[in-house]
Amino acid sequence: MSHPLEAIYALQKKDRKLIKIMREIRDIPQRKSDIEAQLAGAKKKLEVALDSRKHTEATLKEQELEVEALKEKVEKYKNQQMEASTNEQYRAFVKEIGTVEDEIKALEEKEIQLMESLEQGKAIVAECEEKLDGEKAGIADELAELDERSAELAERLERLKADRARAAAECDPSLLQKYTRILQNKRDFAVVMVEPGGHCGGCHMKLPPQVVNDARNPTKVVACNFCGRIVYNP
Ligand SMILES: [Zn+2]
Repeated sequence: MSHPLEAIYALQKKDRKLIKIMREIRDIPQRKSDIEAQLAGAKKKLEVALDSRKHTEATLKEQELEVEALKEKVEKYKNQQMEASTNEQYRAFVKEIGTVEDEIKALEEKEIQLMESLEQGKAIVAECEEKLDGEKAGIADELAELDERSAELAERLERLKADRARAAAECDPSLLQKYTRILQNKRDFAVVMVEPGGHCGGCHMKLPPQVVNDARNPTKVVACNFCGRIVYNP
């Protein structure tokens, strides 16, 4: 008669593999976001460059509107000037028009500067975009590898689960229940071998000789007095 723990021990090997695969699958999204985090610097620089370009564009637009308004003002003054009834009034309009035209000139000079900095801003944005694309390309392979690995693991997981279900069907149901409970509690092993010298393979404490003997007996299932794991001594 084979020892009832033999089937459980075989099941545990499969469970160990399953746990390892599930952990690796669980960690892949984090690994991907760690890799993507490398882009944070380049993304931030692009954001700043885009904001600065937007700001320049808005200022330029404002000034253009202001110049337009001033030009309308000049037109209005010129019409009023033609209707001036006295020389004094006429001269007053000439003066007003001159002041507004000076303002327009100053604004137009500023506009030229703004257009220059807008061109520079556009060049900086393009440079930042290029840098980000380059970095994205650099990590694309790493990300693709992780996706591949993820798909591969998912497939292996399905196969292992089916395999595990078959192995579980071979186990004694009450023993399987006990095994499951201990595994959930301990998270590493539920069944451990008795180590040479009569130590528990889980917690490494010295087991009483009776337990070491019983662990060999196929009609008995014994647990370590210290950690509660099932001890097996084939
Ligand atoms: Zn133990």
